Amino acid sequence: MRSKRSAHWWRPDSMTTEKKQIHGVKKESRREKIFRGLGVSPGIVIGPAYVVERGAVSVPEYMIPFARVTAELARFSQAVNKSIEQLNALKERVHNQKGGASEDLEGLLDAHMRMLTGSRLIRGVDARITEHRINAEAAVQAVTTEFMDQYSAIADSYLADRIHDIQDVGNRLIRNLNKVHVQSFTNLPRGSIIVADDITPADTALMEPKRIGGIVSGLGGAQSHTAIMARSLGLPASLAVAGIVSAASTGTTLILDGSEGRVIVDPTEEVIAQYAELRMQYRKERRQLYRQRKLSATTRDGIDITLQANVELPLELEAAKANGAQGIGLLRTEFMFMNRETLPDEDEQYETLAAFVTGMEGRPVTIRTLDIGGDKVSLVLKRYLESQNLSEAMEGVNPALGLRAIRLGLKCRPLLDTQLAAILRVAALGPVRILLPMIMSVPEVRQVRAAINQAYNKIDACAPPRLPPLGAMIEVPAAALIGDALAQEVDFFSIGTNDLTQYALAIDRGNEQVADLYDPTHPAVLRLIELAVKAAQKAGIDVNICGEMAGDERCVPYLLSLGIRDLSMSAASLSRVKRCIRALDETACGQVARASRNVSSAPYIKT
Ligand code: PEP
Ligand code: MG
Repeated sequence: MRSKRSAHWWRPDSMTTEKKQIHGVKKESRREKIFRGLGVSPGIVIGPAYVVERGAVSVPEYMIPFARVTAELARFSQAVNKSIEQLNALKERVHNQKGGASEDLEGLLDAHMRMLTGSRLIRGVDARITEHRINAEAAVQAVTTEFMDQYSAIADSYLADRIHDIQDVGNRLIRNLNKVHVQSFTNLPRGSIIVADDITPADTALMEPKRIGGIVSGLGGAQSHTAIMARSLGLPASLAVAGIVSAASTGTTLILDGSEGRVIVDPTEEVIAQYAELRMQYRKERRQLYRQRKLSATTRDGIDITLQANVELPLELEAAKANGAQGIGLLRTEFMFMNRETLPDEDEQYETLAAFVTGMEGRPVTIRTLDIGGDKVSLVLKRYLESQNLSEAMEGVNPALGLRAIRLGLKCRPLLDTQLAAILRVAALGPVRILLPMIMSVPEVRQVRAAINQAYNKIDACAPPRLPPLGAMIEVPAAALIGDALAQEVDFFSIGTNDLTQYALAIDRGNEQVADLYDPTHPAVLRLIELAVKAAQKAGIDVNICGEMAGDERCVPYLLSLGIRDLSMSAASLSRVKRCIRALDETACGQVARASRNVSSAPYIKT
């Protein structure tokens, strides 16, 4: 689970007036500040910061034509009603909780509700829309700011508290008007570097790589989904950069080095010039790597390795193809449930998935069923679960261990059945495989197989000629340990080393406080991988790696030494891994594998 505490465990490399060393050059500056976090997605970017203030929602402001004023007032009125509905639901929940704080909270929610019914605030916003002919979000922001300014001018602690209430209510209204609350990412100057305390996978899904320069956040681990998405989108990123939000303001120039995790706020001209040079070298290397895309991934002694792409968003399809992916080895379907108001129905899921299958032009696409939960949050799904009385399902004390992934699908059958029906229909368009996340037992697989058979029997003319292969993610230690039994039930294994590491080592993959302990090459993880691979080989089923380890050149020789011939990774890693494979042979792989047997000294895999 992503932690919300502020991470002040790390201090900037050096403070403003001290001497600093950057790539071997000593510099002195009065403004410049250097921060260091986890470099999770490589690349160098120099650009203006855009600081996301979670407290205050930033909004676009635009004029509306006279003829649209009535419609704008109606839009505002809908947002007010929605806000009241939300507050009522919250109040009911608080009321049912009982206990000391609930009375206070109910009082607070009542106060918020009063601000939304026939109040000065509502009348003020209506008047702004009508008289100034501006959009409702901008009108809300103007009126709430005016009220807050008036209250803060009076020295009174009761009124000081009301200022927060006004801001909360204003933000709620703006969120309900915007529907998608991070729309503001689309109006940024090109090349902006997003800076926030916490950037969720849903936020990242809204970022257009052509517009956004990179990502810097105060929280997050190297294998969090935000990190994975940044790598997939080719957005340089540094996470767990403590103190960055207070050090940078919107518009300040930043340098972000996503390989080193370094962030420089307000750099001097000289430092900008040094990094511009490094950026040029980085781009040159990328261009050289890109030229490899048409070569085969064959070792020096002639072993062919299949390299596929992991994909999380539709816009990655082109990158996967351009980088020579031989298929999509892992299509994460969570994006279909993020940043939206309603659940996607079967037809919508079919259309979305069909674009991947036809887009890959005959190359295989492995579609994973929904893996929402842990750090991948879907608000629309959360609301749906609330309506099914499963409101606590995805949260609880340990969301990573909760009702998520296939467990959720089996508990909430309409969710699973709708998705299976859509996947089966797209399987008529090209080679498709179905992959199940977080499998931990044989009965789970059998239940899903029965659901697939049922869904298949319901499809009419557009059914595929035969059922697609069914695979299990091996990402829970239990699955690796019973790999022999699971291998009898499925057609392939896909080893998810990200979660396998998290669950084997009890290290939250998204928590920056333990990020240094997260190690997919830990001997315990390697033993689990070996167990699963041997079970698959014995049963004669396919096995591939789709966790981030597959894209890590340090680990590739070890994985090949186990007999793995299929790796799936973010499109951005394909050329690098291909270059690595083309330089390997059995002897080199064997040496790395032997060294990994040493359980007493990290790093366990030495190259
Ligand atoms: C994994 O856990 O290794 C995996 C590939 O799945 P995800 O990163 O989507 O959890
Ligand atoms: Mg996983």
